[in-house]
Amino acid sequence: MRAVAVFPERRELRIVEVPPPILQGDHDVLVRVREVGICGTDREITAFHYGSPAEGRDALILGHEVLGEVVEVGAAVGTLKRGDLVAVTVRRPCGESSCAACRVEREDFCATGRFHERGIKGADGFMTEFIVEDERYLVQVPARLAEVGVLLEPLTVATKAALEVEMVLKRFPWERHHLRALVLGAGPIGILSAMMFAARDATTVVYSRERATGPRADLVRSIKAEYVSAEDTPLEELAAHGGPFNIILEAVGNARVAFGAMHALAPNGVCVFSGLPAGDQPTTMELNSIMRNIVLENQMIMGTVNASRAAFQSAVEQLGVFMSLFPESVRSLITDRVSLEEAPELLRNPSGIKQVLCLAA
Ligand code: BGC
Repeated sequence: MRAVAVFPERRELRIVEVPPPILQGDHDVLVRVREVGICGTDREITAFHYGSPAEGRDALILGHEVLGEVVEVGAAVGTLKRGDLVAVTVRRPCGESSCAACRVEREDFCATGRFHERGIKGADGFMTEFIVEDERYLVQVPARLAEVGVLLEPLTVATKAALEVEMVLKRFPWERHHLRALVLGAGPIGILSAMMFAARDATTVVYSRERATGPRADLVRSIKAEYVSAEDTPLEELAAHGGPFNIILEAVGNARVAFGAMHALAPNGVCVFSGLPAGDQPTTMELNSIMRNIVLENQMIMGTVNASRAAFQSAVEQLGVFMSLFPESVRSLITDRVSLEEAPELLRNPSGIKQVLCLAA
């Protein structure tokens, strides 16, 4: 069967032929891959800045945002059957007995860094025709979400952040205020995050560099959120647009923007960073006033990476809500659907909002 692979040592990206996987354990499930999303992490890997093949291998099969269909189940599989649609979690636990998080299936909080991530770090991904996975890493997706189910993995960035923020907000049991959310970035994660806040009736503002008249801005407005373009509004004036915000969700991977927006955070607010800045170019900023505010206003900055099974389940629920509230907006997030053969070209030259490889209907 065909697969899209990178060869980091040789700096190559191409289609390869690999043997189809087979069930090994009783809890294994054979999944036919239907669609795979492409994201910034895949592009970092294909630019050879990130990612690593499994031990002893020279190639890494890419892809970690997947929607598939169950074709065969092992003897002990109790949760899934042939024909079910599934999303797949990305991270696999480290083997260290000292890692309490991995031992309780919370590898998204792995403390050793020795985890694997399918399609990213030490384990093959999903840009191929079939995969085999233990049922515990598969999350059932209702058939009515088939056309947009490939968006579940990027949506888990938002749902994991929301689950974490919920815990932080428990610090303020007396607060019953209307939520005001600021999302930094109008990429797929930014827009999906905005959908989540808007679906919860929060005042939602998306700040991004694209023009206020472009397709991303229209998409944001179609979910009843406000779009603020960096072309018209400097970061320093953000608070005037619906702020100050109880929550800021950063999805641009730019430290200047992330810290520069902190002045728009309300007292007791929480700011979640989810983007990874590319490169290590030093940047200078006036951090004293930012720090002073964080202290004087009981604010919090937290990072989030990867997602638990619970975050995937929450994403399934949320995507269902989005499809009831604004189905066309969700559909229009997927701007390109291409074949596996076209993947290398699309990985090198991105276009649109979310690009998806289609392997099977
Ligand atoms: C993936 C996460 C992963 C992270 C870091 C992201 O693109 O969605 O699952 O943990 O990259 O490798």
